[in-house]
Amino acid sequence: MSTVNGNGGVKREEEESLDSKYSFENRISNGSVAVQTIQVTNAGREADTKLDQHHSYEFGGPWGVATMMAFFPTLMYYLWICLEFYDGQIIAPKSLGDIVPFFGRMWGHIRDHATPTPYTFSLYTSLMVYQLTLAFIMPGYIQEGLPVPSLNYKTLKYNCNALGCWYTTLITIYVLHVTHIFRITEIIDHFGSLMTVAMFYGFAVSFVTYYWAVWTKDAVRMSGNFVYDVWMGAALNPRLGSVDLKMWAEVRIPWVLLFLIALSGGVKQYETYGYCTPNMAFMILATGLYINACAKGEECIPQTWDMFHEKWGFMVIFWNFAGVPFTYCYSIIYMATHEPEKYRFSTPGYIALYATLLTAYYIFDSSMSQKSRFRMQMQGNYKYRWTFPQLPWGTLKNPTYIQTAHVNRLLTSGWWAYARKPNYTADWVQSLTWGLVVGTASPIPYFYSIFFICVLIHRCGRDFERCAAKYGDDWKEYCRIVKWKFIPGVY
Ligand code: NDP
Repeated sequence: MSTVNGNGGVKREEEESLDSKYSFENRISNGSVAVQTIQVTNAGREADTKLDQHHSYEFGGPWGVATMMAFFPTLMYYLWICLEFYDGQIIAPKSLGDIVPFFGRMWGHIRDHATPTPYTFSLYTSLMVYQLTLAFIMPGYIQEGLPVPSLNYKTLKYNCNALGCWYTTLITIYVLHVTHIFRITEIIDHFGSLMTVAMFYGFAVSFVTYYWAVWTKDAVRMSGNFVYDVWMGAALNPRLGSVDLKMWAEVRIPWVLLFLIALSGGVKQYETYGYCTPNMAFMILATGLYINACAKGEECIPQTWDMFHEKWGFMVIFWNFAGVPFTYCYSIIYMATHEPEKYRFSTPGYIALYATLLTAYYIFDSSMSQKSRFRMQMQGNYKYRWTFPQLPWGTLKNPTYIQTAHVNRLLTSGWWAYARKPNYTADWVQSLTWGLVVGTASPIPYFYSIFFICVLIHRCGRDFERCAAKYGDDWKEYCRIVKWKFIPGVY
């Protein structure tokens, strides 16, 4: 495994890249759009250098992250037990004297239903190996990432082949299912055990990649505290050959697996009741839209904060391998294990639910592509890529923006004229519908939206703090023009 990092050894190449790509000039991108590619100013470089060093602890420091590393798996087991064995209701010890027996009962559920087996281990491992193999061999769309300050503003190339891999995975799953080599319902039937395997991988990959980055001197922005650095990660752009592991893990495991869990739930209902409920079909649609959005717009992912700023640590790895697929799916698990009468809606209820999802999805998809494509245009590497579906207003014509002293430009058109994080709002509304789909039958499926709002508010705070440090007065001006964070007039 090699990681791409700028800690020495490649200066000449970096300088060439910098000179050829970021000098002041007008470039023509694909013979169509005239763009100006620009050089980061000295002030911008100073700000970037400061931001690329560890200054203060986030997430409550070493104690805070250690607590979360222990808390995440515990919470996942607890919520799954409530969902599967206690009718989806929150449970607690009945009295002080019941505390020890309570933990005994909890442990019993884990031992009996969540112990990893060679079978579940091979299932999860097969998914990872298959997705990695596809990522290596499938042809893709080559996208240039943002200039990386720690690489002296070198840009990395990303082979965006998630869409081909996603379609191939769908065909493979269909063939495996109809030939009975692997019945898709096996996922729901072995959910607990698979979840434990996923957690194991979450921890194992975090530690292995941490040590690898330290050993190969590819670690950046390190605090020096072991637990905190494992949590935040060491490498920024870990790569295995042509595959960017962080980007691969962000899409190919969590969202693919989540969709497969939904499909598994739908087929399970069909085999049990002879039909798939509109609620389960909703989750198949919702998770399908999400993975499809990630795959069809993969070239936009290098423009997101996870890729250009967040390192590949436990926080990201555990959540990608275990947290997203095994907690965002609670409504699916509830519906796969409970009678449809418990969560049946009226026709207007279904119309409202589906309409809310589709509206939120539209805003999520188009706002993300508006900003990403704007940034690509500014960088001079935007090319139209047709993937399905392309929604109206995904690319802005003659967008307005603030020119910062750093050199980057802040978009103030499209959805970005109304709020500074329109994508977060739309994404959160989607997460809410994933709970609403079971109505009031169980509170557990609302975990995703409750957890996600906390993540988004915290993430937004961290991002704005970083942007304020990076853009100074220009950021203040931007906040004056685009007043609201999430919802115009409200927040
Ligand atoms: P953003 O897409 O908002 O990216 C933030 C960065 O974009 C900023 O740091 C800044 O970078 C740049 N930026 C901010 N405002 C502007 C602007 N007006 N014009 C141009 N550039 C701007 O968010 P994220 O990358 O955090 O998230 C991407 C998506 O991923 C979101 O929709 C989020 O909901 C989703 N997500 C989903 C999760 C899940 O579990 N479901 C978890 C995490 C994220 P710079 O410094 O370069 O200017």
